[in-house]
Amino acid sequence: MTQTTDLTRLTALQMAEKLQSGEITSKELTQAHLDRIHAIDGDAESGVHAFLHVNDKEALEVAVEVDQLRAQGAELHPLAGVPIAIKDLLVTVGQPTTAASTILKDWMSPYDATVIRKIREAKLPILGKTNLDEFAMGSTTEFSAYGPTRNPWDTNRVPGGSGGGSAVAVAAFMAPLAIGTDTGGSIRQPGSFTGTVGAKPTYGSVSRYGAIAMASSLDTVGPVARTVADAAALHELIAGHDPHDSTSLQREWDDLAPAVVAGEDLTGLKIGVIEELDGEGFDAGVLECFQASLRLLEDAGAEIVRVALPHLKAALPAYYLIMPSEASSNLARYDGVRYGNRVVPEQATIDRVMSATRATGFGDEVKRRIILGTYALSAGYYDAYYGSAQKVRTLVQRDFAAAFEKVDALISPTTPTTAIALGEELDDPIAMYLNDVATLPSNLAGIPAISVPGGLASNMPVGVQIQAPATEDALMYRIGAALETGLKASHDGADFFSLLPNAYESDAR
Ligand code: GLN
Repeated sequence: MTQTTDLTRLTALQMAEKLQSGEITSKELTQAHLDRIHAIDGDAESGVHAFLHVNDKEALEVAVEVDQLRAQGAELHPLAGVPIAIKDLLVTVGQPTTAASTILKDWMSPYDATVIRKIREAKLPILGKTNLDEFAMGSTTEFSAYGPTRNPWDTNRVPGGSGGGSAVAVAAFMAPLAIGTDTGGSIRQPGSFTGTVGAKPTYGSVSRYGAIAMASSLDTVGPVARTVADAAALHELIAGHDPHDSTSLQREWDDLAPAVVAGEDLTGLKIGVIEELDGEGFDAGVLECFQASLRLLEDAGAEIVRVALPHLKAALPAYYLIMPSEASSNLARYDGVRYGNRVVPEQATIDRVMSATRATGFGDEVKRRIILGTYALSAGYYDAYYGSAQKVRTLVQRDFAAAFEKVDALISPTTPTTAIALGEELDDPIAMYLNDVATLPSNLAGIPAISVPGGLASNMPVGVQIQAPATEDALMYRIGAALETGLKASHDGADFFSLLPNAYESDAR
């Protein structure tokens, strides 16, 4: 194994430590990740295709700047110099932002998302932009207009979605950290499929300014990493009140990284297994890992009880009315006039330009959701569909509130299955929507949720999801860390990623 490969195997916090002590430079660290990207990423045919755009030049410039500042003894953010990948849904000056859509092909944003600004201020070299389902609509990353991303554990399988690119960048050691977005599970479901740690923060913890809107009342931006401590550190970096996002919370988030103390005692904590997400529809291998995780948490001192959230079964249909409704309104801005690509048909009128632009610029899934959302919001149907869905949302929120009267946190598998095969659900949207049954309720309720690896089923990763009351993100990280520590101990101290298939242990695929 080369030195290059070794560096990419460290956790982000280990990298940060070595940078601070001067043992390594950000330039060599960043170069090692770029080398790995160029060796294995390729396109959908030749590689795992996690990236839509790689920016060697900018990343190395930032790295060199960090090294110089450090040499001069400048005060830097602890993560300065640690490279990061960004889901191509966050607008980024100097790099294209496409949302994996043809309608934004080659589009360059004139401003940075708040999360990008914070990352730039902390001086993390941005490696590039990662693949996703078009406008973050999907659960496999197959709906990208630029070709799918492959799961590094088995390249015939999907990495989950919509944030498959960020998950794979991290899982395949092309980046130690990545930014994702999560509207119904797009950080956590790919986390489960790829063995990465992914957290959906409390709604309002991280600014949505500059995150291309899908469903504004559900959208969140959050961290993707290989360890819980890395995820918490990144969450802390990107969190905070932002005057540009009217839904962002007035609160400090400096309790996240400290919450992660390896092997912390969970004595006194009551964790509720969600009854509705622990049986029917979930694979046997997934449930086995889940049960093993519960035992690990009990070993750490937690009390495990069962709780019912009776309205959870209605959460999925409610989500798939609310999300398309909001998306249909948010996506009205891609009209071929204001910005993005324009298709000018013969005998062009403004209506024809809009129609031709949207007909060619959007893919099938995006169109499906715009049509569904427009229908659900239309006069005469509004009360029956959108109105009812909002009522269900309130019931789901009340279920969570009632559950948190009895327990400190909730636990379930993150997904009903491990990663599915490429193409398996492509023609069956309803089957694909069912992937999100365990993840989307927390978006409806606005509460924090994390997916942490819980083991392997038939050599594929299984995620375990921990949900906490709103603003108690620190508690979620604390429990996640205890689970991670327990899992490691049960594998004789081996970290989860050492179980990755051999093909990805070397630079060449
Ligand atoms: N898979 C879900 C959907 O397609 C969630 C997407 C997301 O979180 N962005 O809507």
